[in-house]
Amino acid sequence: MSRVNTVLGPIPPEELGIVAVHEHIGYGMPGSELDTKWWKSPEQRYAETVPKLRAFHEYGGGTFVDVTGICNGRDVDYYKSLSAKTGVHIVACTGFVGGDTALPFFARASVDYLAEHFVHEITVGIGGTGSSAGVIKVGVSRGGRMTELDKRIYRAAARAALATGVPILTHLAIDAENAIAIFGEEGLPLDRVLFGHADDGVNAEQTRDLWIAEQGGRVGFDTFGYETELEDPPFWARPRKERLDHFLRFIGHGHLDRALASADANCSPLGWPGVKGHTVNYLFEDLFPDLRAAGVDEATITTLFVENPADFLTIQN
Ligand SMILES: [Zn+2]
Repeated sequence: MSRVNTVLGPIPPEELGIVAVHEHIGYGMPGSELDTKWWKSPEQRYAETVPKLRAFHEYGGGTFVDVTGICNGRDVDYYKSLSAKTGVHIVACTGFVGGDTALPFFARASVDYLAEHFVHEITVGIGGTGSSAGVIKVGVSRGGRMTELDKRIYRAAARAALATGVPILTHLAIDAENAIAIFGEEGLPLDRVLFGHADDGVNAEQTRDLWIAEQGGRVGFDTFGYETELEDPPFWARPRKERLDHFLRFIGHGHLDRALASADANCSPLGWPGVKGHTVNYLFEDLFPDLRAAGVDEATITTLFVENPADFLTIQN
């Protein structure tokens, strides 16, 4: 039976519904939990998160993919309770946002160790939660080029993806030549990889999105809503129209089947204030209306938010 791992167990891909494919329940830098100035009480985290997930559900959202890696505040028992109470399917990840957010214990580990760890989290479960990861997160460290550690993590992720059939999401799609070389050496088909953040204000120029799609990779326009029009925009913000035009150009080049979109928002950021006024519900409140106003039809919206993510997330075996 085709299935996708959610924190409450595997479900058929037809049950995913509208998917927000790159999101965060709460993302923080490793160690932020040790800073009492920022660390939030459970009450605060629920109070900030539940209304956003309830609204997501009411708008017709089905599945929230949390790509908060190991060491960045991933908290699967918490996700399970959120999913049970709100009715939103939550997919959790194994892997790391980037080599630069892996704590020394993992940063020193071999490819074999990392691959085994990822496979365990996908097939046995994450810690004692009984929940299995549904995606593998990898990423490029700050600096614009893949580090030796990033490459080790990408290689381990490729092996775990092949062993389990679970797909890979990347943080950043810059330096894609190196990533694609590793996936090629490991024999991983590129349609099992979503190259993320092709659309952010810092990296869009350096990202070869059309080339990645031509190689067979999937491309994530997944920072929708981080726009310069916000009251206090982050450094990776981009003018709203510029990002939308970029997305429409990509689809217009015949790559609709390679495209995925999301908002990369934090329901309740950990150890940093987050970006005010930005939530996962940007998809329903702003992006869908913008797409419709630009002449995108309902079938295309369904392809982007239902069919493509289901195809990507379905475990291959
Ligand atoms: Zn993210």
